[in-house]
Amino acid sequence: MDSLRNIGHIDGQTQLVGIIGSPVAHSLSPEMHNAAFAYMGLNWRYIPLLVRPDQLAAALKGIVALNFRGVNITIPHKVAAIPLMDSVTEAVTVAGAVNTVRIDGSSGRMEGMNTDMTGFLADLAAHKIHLSEGMRVIVLGAGGAARAVGAGLARSGAQITFINRTPEKAAQVVEFLKASWSSAVMTAAPFSELAAHAEGASLIVNTTAVGIWPNADESPWPEHVPFPKNAVVYDTVYRPRHTLLMKQAEKAGLMAVGGLGMLVYQGAAAFEMWTRQKPPIEVMRAACEQRLGD
Ligand code: NAP
Repeated sequence: MDSLRNIGHIDGQTQLVGIIGSPVAHSLSPEMHNAAFAYMGLNWRYIPLLVRPDQLAAALKGIVALNFRGVNITIPHKVAAIPLMDSVTEAVTVAGAVNTVRIDGSSGRMEGMNTDMTGFLADLAAHKIHLSEGMRVIVLGAGGAARAVGAGLARSGAQITFINRTPEKAAQVVEFLKASWSSAVMTAAPFSELAAHAEGASLIVNTTAVGIWPNADESPWPEHVPFPKNAVVYDTVYRPRHTLLMKQAEKAGLMAVGGLGMLVYQGAAAFEMWTRQKPPIEVMRAACEQRLGD
């Protein structure tokens, strides 16, 4: 009976959203969104949906057929979902990935969106980290998160160097972003050239998967490379909340910000797209913090 009570009230009017990924068990989004729905008194539920790559198209058709209001899309489907959408926003085109789908209730049309980019920019603003024309930024990594972060930075006119373990992938990100911002100053380099590129940078953003729990004793920043003076370090990793990279930066006297805010703001943007209601951001943050613990 207790477990039934925990599910809460579900009836014929309950609206469904969820997250499609593989794996999805680690996702904080169910807690974050269900806490928001409960707080707002909305008869909505958010459920994790494990979908393997060869089932993505079928799964998307399925959620339309089942009258879902939308879904989040996570690893490894963010790029593969693009051609399956009926339409995409400009943010999807510039970031090259879909992380949120809104489904029109009457037509069943799927609109693909990218709220990772807006989530990153919103969290920078919340921390009063201002982007400016010509500002030098180092982005570590060249995956999906690097594209979303890079698109947000390029829009502001920042000069970006993408540093990646596989330099060819960093070059591909530069080429991709140049399609939207041809005049932007962007370069790609290997980690061996990090020290030279880092000098004079104002912002360092980690988008690599290095340092994620359970490998919390790893950092993408090599010990022998000094941090640029007065730079801000933004680590998109949010588990653990205080990464080794953040600790290294703080030890060097720099401001360091973790990725939880980006996660919360991307979720808040999705919540607003689906429900057309103002998201309870602090409730969503608290739900994530509770799940992550200390
Ligand atoms: P992805 O597309 O798989 O890219 C992973 C990146 O990490 C690649 O650049 C990869 O380099 C690099 N990498 C992985 N293992 C490495 C290692 N041992 N040494 C050096 N580089 C390594 O993943 P993604 O979607 O970009 O996500 C990356 C991370 O960003 C996530 O794990 C998550 O922590 C964070 N993220 C956070 C948010 C948020 O809301 N806060 C949102 C999205 C992502 P190679 O190209 O050489 O393989």
